[in-house]
Amino acid sequence: MISLILLAPPAAGKGTLSHLLEEEYHLEHISTGDLLREEIKKETPLGKQIKSVIDEGAFVSDDVIIRLIEQKLTSPSCKNGYILDGFPRNIAQAQAYDALLKKLHLSLGKVLLLEADKDLLEKRTVGRRICENCGAIYNIYVKESMPKEENICDRCHGPLIKRKDDSIAVFQARYQTYLEKTHPLIDYYRGKGVLYTIDATTGKDQMLVYAKKIIDCE
Ligand code: AMP
Repeated sequence: MISLILLAPPAAGKGTLSHLLEEEYHLEHISTGDLLREEIKKETPLGKQIKSVIDEGAFVSDDVIIRLIEQKLTSPSCKNGYILDGFPRNIAQAQAYDALLKKLHLSLGKVLLLEADKDLLEKRTVGRRICENCGAIYNIYVKESMPKEENICDRCHGPLIKRKDDSIAVFQARYQTYLEKTHPLIDYYRGKGVLYTIDATTGKDQMLVYAKKIIDCE
């Protein structure tokens, strides 16, 4: 069973790479950001509670996130393997995930770290568009990621929208949170010998080539 963690600063392409790997290896794609946005869209009690947190680029509480992850990992959709996109996001979540893996008798798998510099990430953030229907990700400033038709999804013809948290101010806040909270996970997973680095400036096709080499190597 393949299990992967994608670790990356905001807008490095972890959503895009996750979708590609999901298709390539038939893995369940678990995006905590998507799960949270679904709660907001459905206006559940949790959704109402977390909306302002997400809009500001801050983190939702660890308890909420761990509960969402446990629900997912124990569902049949994950039995062939899964990709974690956006989790864990801090050391406490990584430790809780270790405990959960132990409880469920699952192994940690590999951690893919996507690397790109801050200026590029800022530009990608402002140009990002998401399909409201299927979640496919595009970028109007990155040639190979532009939709064929303006504001229309290539895959399902759904409408493309700009996420409210894809502004420069929110990017700055999210990047700072990444440095403070998520960046320490690099050493955490390096210490466990499961960390692999991918150059995220090369475009999605090349990123997929790198990722496949890492995943297919025993
Ligand atoms: P993403 O789509 O992964 O960029 O996540 C969007 C937003 O959802 C983040 O800026 C956080 O507010 C929240 N979020 C997603 N995953 C987590 C997590 N593992 N822990 C805390 N907050 C999260």
